[in-house]
Amino acid sequence: MNTEDILKEVTRGVVECVSREELVKKLSSGKRLRVKLGVDPTSRDLHLGHGVVLDKLRKFQDLGHTAVLIIGDFTAQVGDPSGKDSTRPVLDHDTVASNAKTYTEQAFKILDPEKTEIRFNTEWLKPFFASPATGVSDFINTAKTVTISRLLEREDFRARMKAGSPISLLEILYPLLQGYDSVAVKADIELGGQDQIFNLLVGRDLQKANAQEPQVVMTVPLLVGTDGEKKMSKSYGNYVAFNDLPNDMFGKLMSLSDELMYSYYELLTSEDLAAVKAEHPMEAKKKLAGLITGRYHGAEQASAARAHFEQVFSRKELPEDMETFRAEKAGKLSYLLVAAGLAKGMNEARRLIAQGAVRLDGEKVAEDIVFEPRNCVLQVGRRQFRKIEK
Ligand code: ATP
Ligand code: MG
Repeated sequence: MNTEDILKEVTRGVVECVSREELVKKLSSGKRLRVKLGVDPTSRDLHLGHGVVLDKLRKFQDLGHTAVLIIGDFTAQVGDPSGKDSTRPVLDHDTVASNAKTYTEQAFKILDPEKTEIRFNTEWLKPFFASPATGVSDFINTAKTVTISRLLEREDFRARMKAGSPISLLEILYPLLQGYDSVAVKADIELGGQDQIFNLLVGRDLQKANAQEPQVVMTVPLLVGTDGEKKMSKSYGNYVAFNDLPNDMFGKLMSLSDELMYSYYELLTSEDLAAVKAEHPMEAKKKLAGLITGRYHGAEQASAARAHFEQVFSRKELPEDMETFRAEKAGKLSYLLVAAGLAKGMNEARRLIAQGAVRLDGEKVAEDIVFEPRNCVLQVGRRQFRKIEK
């Protein structure tokens, strides 16, 4: 791949990239780049929102670069104010440590362990506040280089000041800590959700102040949570976790609005959106739920979850008083349609199948397959049903 193709690949779907010129320079240097992503263990779960940015990180790994995954065990105790309209509850050390326990394992559902460096930021942030060696605190030196007006430029703080919601000194300091992570790991690129743009840019400032080449900053769009309103977040309880059981994961995804479903397709899969939109929304949603459940639990579990969902939910939408048809021996589906009275003749039956109007247990059947007798629901279009019994 040439740099132009690589650039296209890594910037696909990105909201902001600061700056493109620097990115081109880094990508064409031939160097193995260190691509940073930070996650604070504020709860036990990684969720599909993290999946968006982890997918991007994986892309860099596939191109031969190193992922530097920062587990913010220190910053989680400080509390990231990004996008928040009030101060977060303070988490103690034990809660954070217990939350972080399975983070690595969860992240490796997407990342390649061979090309991942995992770092906990207490490693450098503890000594940051008071260096036992020199007695001089890196924190004091860092705090000197960032101005108050720069820190107050952020949208979320401005909104809070206007609303009279207090902002603590600790919250103001948060970006300094995240920025210092970049200095500590010598990041070439940092990824994040769009809510992180401010913190990421402070990282650039601090690297410059520490005589490092500033990291390129790239943000991905924020995936909206299952509530359809706020961004998917650990704090809002509107998330689908990597570790949700297959049936729960499938069910949560089936509860999305159609509009949200398409945005999940866009941000979480590589399916062709135009083709997806041509499908019936219910079918498209099941496919999405199957794809995502399959990704985290494997194809077998995904189809079991689909069957479970259909048994529990979809059947309720079927008419109570379906006519029954007994299918005694195997035969072409077109023949079954005619025999069951759902098509006038073989030609019409074949046409209905080719048009995608025929479903078995809600699944579209677009080929004139051989039907082995079993108990199921045969459907033509929206309204014609037969309960097939063997
Ligand atoms: P919290 O609510 O405690 O802030 P979070 O769910 O936002 O938790 P973080 O640890 O703050 O999780 O986020 C880690 C990274 O994942 C950040 O770069 C963040 O922007 C990104 N991220 C989090 N949620 C989403 C989302 N819904 N869509 C896209 N990226 C996200
Ligand atoms: Mg966050």
